[in-house]
Amino acid sequence: MFLCTQLKELDTDMAWFKRELKGIITTTEEKKEAPDGIWNKCPNCKKPLHYSEQVENQYVCHYCGFHLRIGSKEYFSVLFDNNEFTELFPALTSGDPLHFEDTKKYTDRLKETQKKTGLSDAIRAGVGKIDGQDIVIACMDFNFIGGSMGSVVGEKIARSIDYSIEHKVPFLMISKSGGARMMEAAFSLMQMAKTSAKLALLAQAKVPYISLLTDPTTGGVTASYAMLGDINIAEPGALIGFAGPRVIKETIKKDLPKGFQTAEFVQEHGFLDFIVDRREMKEKLASFIKMMAN
Ligand SMILES: [Zn+2]
Repeated sequence: MFLCTQLKELDTDMAWFKRELKGIITTTEEKKEAPDGIWNKCPNCKKPLHYSEQVENQYVCHYCGFHLRIGSKEYFSVLFDNNEFTELFPALTSGDPLHFEDTKKYTDRLKETQKKTGLSDAIRAGVGKIDGQDIVIACMDFNFIGGSMGSVVGEKIARSIDYSIEHKVPFLMISKSGGARMMEAAFSLMQMAKTSAKLALLAQAKVPYISLLTDPTTGGVTASYAMLGDINIAEPGALIGFAGPRVIKETIKKDLPKGFQTAEFVQEHGFLDFIVDRREMKEKLASFIKMMAN
């Protein structure tokens, strides 16, 4: 009885400790600004990783080599010299041509995601240097509606390629996507043709294109620009495929081979040129660019 009362009192006393106010929102961007003391668990080996260790190790688990999923901000910091770059076309945002609504309005979903992630859409592009050589990098963000390819993604890739052609600067595309953006339906699918046509112009202009496929790269992205590089590379263990394994299994009514749709499997079957550890990525990319320039 005594214990009960005491607990109750304690409960009241602890009220200040609970977060009772709703609507306290910290954007992901802000959260990342205060990295000290943040521990994450490696999704693969479950060992604790300190934030500063992750940054130092290019966001690769130093116990098991697992490549953590990161966004454009992190890729830019890993690849651009001194993390210096000029962002290209940052203001592009999506319209809602179909007035799409599922559990919420597409316009609301966009606004909420923009607020939560600090991103304008599922891709950012920048121009800077990699080991002293000019490069344009377009990098997808999975945090933004599953890295889905909508019209903004397609348009930013198209404009980045135009920039690359105009300035004769190699183009690196970092893909990370669940595929087409269903809220934009056919407008989303058109981006496959649009980006592929632009890449043909890039090839005509003899400007190198490197495609980097990261975990996961699926759907229409795999079926268009991600597989069209002069060099196609992937990070170890990345999921790469068109349809998901469950759909394929149900269609062919057969069990899938072991390791199906991993970067290693895809490379063995001739769709990838190299698999590169993220910790060696910058050096390898710089040497590819130098090689292709000659
Ligand atoms: Zn690990």
